[in-house]
Amino acid sequence: MTIKVNDNFAALSKSYLFSEIGRRVREYQEAHPEANIVRMGIGDVTRPLPQCVVNAMKAAADELGKAETFRGYPPEYGYDFLREAISAHYAEMGVEMPADDIFVSDGAKSDCGNFVDVLGDNDIYLPDPVYPVYRDSNVMSGRRITLLPSGRDNDFLPMPDENCGTGVYYLCSPGNPTGAAYSAQQLARWVEFAKKSGSLIIFDAAYEAFITDDCPRSVYLVPGARECAVEICSFSKTAGFTGTRCGYTVVPSELVFDGVHLRDLWARRQATKFNGVSYPVQRAAQAAYSPEGMAACYENIAYYRENAAMLASVLDEKGIYYTGGKNSPYLWLQCPNGMGSWEFFDYLLDKANIVGTPGEGFGKCGEGFFRLTSFSTHELTAEAVRRLREVL
Ligand code: PLP
Repeated sequence: MTIKVNDNFAALSKSYLFSEIGRRVREYQEAHPEANIVRMGIGDVTRPLPQCVVNAMKAAADELGKAETFRGYPPEYGYDFLREAISAHYAEMGVEMPADDIFVSDGAKSDCGNFVDVLGDNDIYLPDPVYPVYRDSNVMSGRRITLLPSGRDNDFLPMPDENCGTGVYYLCSPGNPTGAAYSAQQLARWVEFAKKSGSLIIFDAAYEAFITDDCPRSVYLVPGARECAVEICSFSKTAGFTGTRCGYTVVPSELVFDGVHLRDLWARRQATKFNGVSYPVQRAAQAAYSPEGMAACYENIAYYRENAAMLASVLDEKGIYYTGGKNSPYLWLQCPNGMGSWEFFDYLLDKANIVGTPGEGFGKCGEGFFRLTSFSTHELTAEAVRRLREVL
């Protein structure tokens, strides 16, 4: 007799995208120690936290150090002050969202991966290419996955079609890796489809703050979404919390399947398996919503946008097809001259000493495409642009 392990793990993809990138870059750097490599592949922010966010975190830590203001375990669903601040953020977008429907977490990745806990044996539908967490968390739990292909014909924004049945649909807008964002009309079609077919949409809005046009920043801006969609969001890209860790999931009280309120299941799941986000981090997240915090966050986002515009300008100049950039920190471009994703990765590394992310690592439909990010400094982005102009 022996312990049985979860064999679903054996079905996970063996290609570890970022470790393979790391290996190729290391080998290249060893062979070319003089090469000054510019990294445009990371999905991590580089701008520091706003000062008022840091001050709030420090003040909260001081409170924990005094007997009169000490706090122990936080509430599993988040402190009321933060749930109410998030609710007020929705109100500013024109969405009425009661604080009771908002569940604070340590980030969107955990929630994307954990939400399967409250779902039964459903068909799972994922865009291809896709943020790998949706795929791998469903592979780990042995669920049937159907991919929704995307490409130039739908500008990497898959829509419901005759192959779509009742199931759980993960949508990410603006998307990672493609940077493409759904319009209000497109999201309305998804909501209509979900309601008609009895499906659930898991809407990942981690990049909502990057939207510059009239694409919806929340799925709840679409009428009817409260009855068919969960929304997951994060302070990571909005407020620079990738290392600080805070996010939230909205499960509206109207979401009822088989007579069961999904919100009750998620509340139970969180209360059982999660002990909340630390007090200083929640105070820091609250401070990000203050007028000073919002101004500083949008200044940082504007900084990344300028980088994205610099990268977009060279792609425009060279007539290269791409999505993203406008509403997203990501630019998703077609590799020139019919090159494959990894072939282009090696070409850029060798000819321009630039590291990006091969699109094939996000799914089959990503083959022949490549992701560049704007999460770098102006100086390094300008240098990357100069080199790209020479080699593209
Ligand atoms: N969702 C998407 C689409 C992402 O790209 C990322 C991070 O890159 C996350 C979620 C993770 O967010 P967090 O840092 O809050 O875990």
